[in-house]
Amino acid sequence: MKTNPPFWETKSLATMTQSEWESLCDGCGRCCLVKLQDEDTDEIFATNVACRLLDIDTCRCRDYDNRMNKVAMCMVLEPEKKDLLRLLPDSCAYRRLDEGKGLPSWHPLLTANSASVHLSGNSVKGYAQSEEYIHPDQLPEHVINK
Ligand code: SF4
Ligand code: SF4
Repeated sequence: MKTNPPFWETKSLATMTQSEWESLCDGCGRCCLVKLQDEDTDEIFATNVACRLLDIDTCRCRDYDNRMNKVAMCMVLEPEKKDLLRLLPDSCAYRRLDEGKGLPSWHPLLTANSASVHLSGNSVKGYAQSEEYIHPDQLPEHVINK
């Protein structure tokens, strides 16, 4: 029997419902890593240092509803914000769909397992450190190539 294609294959980001949009986040936590920008080239480097609100065990925000009042670097993603989408890691479902790619193989919408992002090694689980314990001067020592 033929089944209908899933919403992420038929809808644009801009036409998804709020719950469809939210379900695209695989919970990798990679967008919650502190970034450094080269003053001369504007190049952006990710560190293994996570926002103080990130629970580094679950890779989820500990205060998602109030995050914008608490963390200056946090951002609200929207389909129209192309500049923000381009700053996301290349594994991120929002960026991938915006670029016309499919969901990554580990994505919970494909695996039906919310832990698959961790089990496949595609979340920050296991290497992220909370910025609560890192002095800002030490950030350059924490740059990673992910
Ligand atoms: S990088 Fe994308 S998929 Fe990963 S936590 Fe951030 S928004 Fe969600
Ligand atoms: S406030 Fe929450 S969602 Fe925003 S960067 Fe920090 S952990 Fe991530």
